[in-house]
Amino acid sequence: MQNTKKHCGRCGGTGRYITHSLNGRLRGPGGICFRCEGKGYQTPADERRNAAYDEYAAARAMRADMGY
Ligand SMILES: [Zn+2]
Repeated sequence: MQNTKKHCGRCGGTGRYITHSLNGRLRGPGGICFRCEGKGYQTPADERRNAAYDEYAAARAMRADMGY
């Protein structure tokens, strides 16, 4: 049996996070976990979205490092 639901490490499976950072500032409290959209686990579709997000965030960080 294949398990496609992956426990979400971002929110610990609760579907919610207490604090997060947005543009370098801590926001909170509470909110729906964007990694799993509040489900507490990640589907393959969630994983694809998160992978794309991580690539985007990494690209942004690289541009920031170069001073753009
Ligand atoms: Zn989550």
